[in-house]
Amino acid sequence: MKQQPGKTGAWPVAMAKFCICCGTALAYGQLQPDEPERPYCTACGYVHYEPPRILIGCFITCGDRLLWIRRGIEPYKGLWTVPGGFMEKGEDPRDAAARELFEETGVAIDVEALQLYLAGSIRAINELHLIYRGSIGNECARPSSEADRVGFFAEAEAPWADFAFPEGESAIRQFYQDHAQGEYGTYMGKLSRTQHLMDRVQTRRG
Ligand SMILES: [Zn+2]
Repeated sequence: MKQQPGKTGAWPVAMAKFCICCGTALAYGQLQPDEPERPYCTACGYVHYEPPRILIGCFITCGDRLLWIRRGIEPYKGLWTVPGGFMEKGEDPRDAAARELFEETGVAIDVEALQLYLAGSIRAINELHLIYRGSIGNECARPSSEADRVGFFAEAEAPWADFAFPEGESAIRQFYQDHAQGEYGTYMGKLSRTQHLMDRVQTRRG
């Protein structure tokens, strides 16, 4: 399904429809008191648990500029964001950040140099976000199939008008501010369709 660019109301949510064990159409309901409704199979008893997906993002700087990518694939093709993607099965989150960064932009970074910046949730789409930050010495990024353009932008130059996820703008602006001061928070965030709450839980220099 094609998503409408930049519209938070079009957040994609996929739902299981068939049992992965026997192929029967799944029913949907509350199996235990005080638990959320889940898809389950009335034929074989399989219960389809839906743990949050974990999205990894990267705030990578060179000097006062932040690395952005223009999405080369749907959803949100043609709009800008920062490098990132979903964690693979069994992967360490920082390894996932470095992998996505390299796949999308060709930037190779020392995994140990990545610092956690934001751990946030979007409950409406059952996602957990982990954003890591790091810096590199030169602007040596290249486009890829997932990112048809890449660019390093200072806050005033950044493509805010074409940002794929405008609901997340406050987090990136907070990062620009931290980066300018050379003093970084670590944040816990809650993002909904109406607001983005960010609590600073720690402060680090460098
Ligand atoms: Zn089944």
